Amino acid sequence: MTDPYDVIVVGVGAHGSATIAELAARGCRVLGLERSDVPNTLGSSGGVNRMIRLAYNEDPRYVPLVQHAYDRWRALEARVQDRLLVVTGGLDIGSPSSAVVEGSIAACRAHELRHEILSRTELRRRYPAFEVPDDHVAVLQPDAGFVMSERAIAAYAATAIADGAEIHGNEPVVAWEATDDLVTVRTDRDTYRARRLLLAAGAWMPSLVDILRDVAVPERQVLMWTQPREPAMFQVGTFPVFIHEDDDGTEWYGFPEFGIPGVKLGRYRHRGETIDPRTDSWRKLDGEDERHLREGLERFLPAANGPLLSWRTCIFTNVPDQHFIIDRLPDRPNVIIASPCSGHGFKFASALGDVLADLVMDREPGFDIGMFRLDRFEVANVA
Ligand SMILES: Cc1cc2nc3c(=O)[nH]c(=O)nc-3n(C[C@H](O)[C@H](O)[C@H](O)COP(=O)(O)OP(=O)(O)OC[C@H]3O[C@@H](n4cnc5c(N)ncnc54)[C@H](O)[C@@H]3O)c2cc1C
Repeated sequence: MTDPYDVIVVGVGAHGSATIAELAARGCRVLGLERSDVPNTLGSSGGVNRMIRLAYNEDPRYVPLVQHAYDRWRALEARVQDRLLVVTGGLDIGSPSSAVVEGSIAACRAHELRHEILSRTELRRRYPAFEVPDDHVAVLQPDAGFVMSERAIAAYAATAIADGAEIHGNEPVVAWEATDDLVTVRTDRDTYRARRLLLAAGAWMPSLVDILRDVAVPERQVLMWTQPREPAMFQVGTFPVFIHEDDDGTEWYGFPEFGIPGVKLGRYRHRGETIDPRTDSWRKLDGEDERHLREGLERFLPAANGPLLSWRTCIFTNVPDQHFIIDRLPDRPNVIIASPCSGHGFKFASALGDVLADLVMDREPGFDIGMFRLDRFEVANVA
């Protein structure tokens, strides 16, 4: 048997790829195991791009981490000589008392972020595509934009390999076990050993870590690209990324045309369907998915409500408080689990790659990750 690796990382998606790259850059002997292609569109990171924004309406405690994420995305761009982060400006739209608007303003004030609050009239003057209710306002944050998610994963995998990491695609992990000083990982092809294990398997985490079964719940999402009736309104430079909270609490989000034709729109939590990612039937799209998304276009973005161009399913992995789980397993400190999703985790991958590499190497992370601890939920020990 060969010498154990320093680290095995299961899942070469957003967070796995970033951590493998960071570990390889630090000189670790690391193996990444991915059940599908590298990159792939079957997990949580497919669909061209993901929003990045400083005005973190969910909780201002994320702002320092996302500030670091911007720096680290820029560092990755410099390393691979490719553009991965596009700044478009971002709008958080809703009534003045909506969670999105209040939360966004609170984050801007707490961290002195550049921002403007736009009345509906001013919003329509600058971005005429938006038809929002009379009392809605918008928080404009000039630093927001998007990261090219599939390209970023490819870039991390390439730099990891250049720095000596080994990555095996299309090799699903079927089982793992850990003693105090060694982990053994079995795939459909082979068995590997390492001193440390990072499980970053996205929506498949509950099938690898039993105690997550009721805590990290995969949910079906759908993204749709439509042909805009007035294309000039929806280009990078004329149209920002946005989140719009409806008066009933529904959140819509969208992007300018980029990468593939069409304006991209999503409805947060879509139809509320929990799924098992090991099955495939939920990947089928139907007219109800389209109707569900068009409702938003009809009401507040009519100029984007043209013919359907593309659509794609994707998966959120939601935890009850909609934050992340990043921790050591309670009875296996050499096993680290990472579930940074709840529908908003991609943007952090560049920063969490550093944090996860620190955890794996027993270093104190440069950020307070206490809010992501597993013991905020009631879970039993593994053994
Ligand atoms: C529709 C949608 C829109 C979103 N919008 C945003 C946004 O605008 N901004 C934002 O920041 N975040 C957003 N998110 C959330 C973000 O995309 C996720 O937080 C992020 O992709 C999670 O990354 P991950 O590495 O945990 O999972 P993934 O990138 O899915 O990676 C997990 C990998 O593990 C692999 N794997 C699973 N099981 C095994 C196994 N047994 N063996 C080997 N490999 C395995 C999978 O194949 C996969 O490649 C969105 C998510 C969705 C679905």
